[in-house]
Amino acid sequence: MRKNIVVFNRLPAALVQQLSETYNVTVIDPQGDFDSQLKRALPEAHGLIGASKRLGREQLAEAQNLEVISSVSVGYDSYEVDYLTERGIMLTNTPDVLTQTTADLGFALLMSAARRLPELDAYVKAGQWHQSIGEAQFGTDVYGKTLGIIGMGRIGAALAKRGRFGFDMNILYTANSPKPDLEKELDAAFCDLKTLLQSSDFVCLVAPLNESTYHMIGAYELQLMQPSGILINIGRGPLIDEAALYDALCNERIRGAGLDVFEREPLEASPLFSLKNIVTLPHIGSATHETRYAMAERAVANLTAVLNGTRPRDLVNPQAWAD
Ligand code: NAP
Repeated sequence: MRKNIVVFNRLPAALVQQLSETYNVTVIDPQGDFDSQLKRALPEAHGLIGASKRLGREQLAEAQNLEVISSVSVGYDSYEVDYLTERGIMLTNTPDVLTQTTADLGFALLMSAARRLPELDAYVKAGQWHQSIGEAQFGTDVYGKTLGIIGMGRIGAALAKRGRFGFDMNILYTANSPKPDLEKELDAAFCDLKTLLQSSDFVCLVAPLNESTYHMIGAYELQLMQPSGILINIGRGPLIDEAALYDALCNERIRGAGLDVFEREPLEASPLFSLKNIVTLPHIGSATHETRYAMAERAVANLTAVLNGTRPRDLVNPQAWAD
């Protein structure tokens, strides 16, 4: 019997074709109504593959044949892991393959905010460049400054390496536990959040979203940052209390921010859009042709492993795996 797969978002046509050779594949039409298409396909589905859609218990109640959700992402905050484990549904993700690309984007965002690139790009294109620019358009140095990383995991470490070896930055970090090898390699220092916020010129969030990290940066934490500090978020939007950030930027309690992720996505309107001292991106950390393809390939490999009865490489909930 051919098993049934639902592609719920973001899978290249060549990989859909590859899956179709072995499975019955339903691709959710992004132009159509997502919820009703998913609801129709779920009762027969053995595997789901995709990203950027919340799939909680309310959506999955009717998925009685489901064996695996293969997420084309490293973050898995869109899923209820305990619920999936209870039901014996494997959840897989795509770590590693997006690490370098996401770190590149993090550094690009940092540089853009420091040197005000989007603002000055708009200034030139608006025909406002009548004479050499003055202090009002100056940015701030990156080279030799202090980079504070909240979440020294795969991407955090890759970002820290860019800062340390590319820009001779001092590295501070927080994580659940210290990373002695990285400290040695990068001359980095583990510290508490308060010290990191007070001592860093650039604070970069790269932690996962969970109960302990939700709104970990709010009004109090923003107040701890230096007035010349710049906040970068490439983790998940809800790590920051966006209303508090708006307030801090409006009142210039910090110099600027660069956000790839937001509390609500996609974000079509926000008070943040009225501010010059923030760079906003549409969640593009891993969005290059090469990396998105590599992520999709890895997700397909994880999906097919489970459907073939083999342990997948990237199992988020190993407790769900019965040997
Ligand atoms: P990872 O290797 O698991 O790293 C996560 C790090 O966060 C770990 O070092 C962990 O500490 C630390 N951490 C967890 N809770 C923390 C807390 N309360 N305070 C401080 N640090 C904490 O994951 P990754 O591959 O680097 O990815 C990190 C996150 O980036 C993902 O979860 C995802 O949400 C986000 N991401 C975003 C994009 C984008 O497009 N913008 C792309 C990829 C990933 P320990 O190591 O000590 O446990």
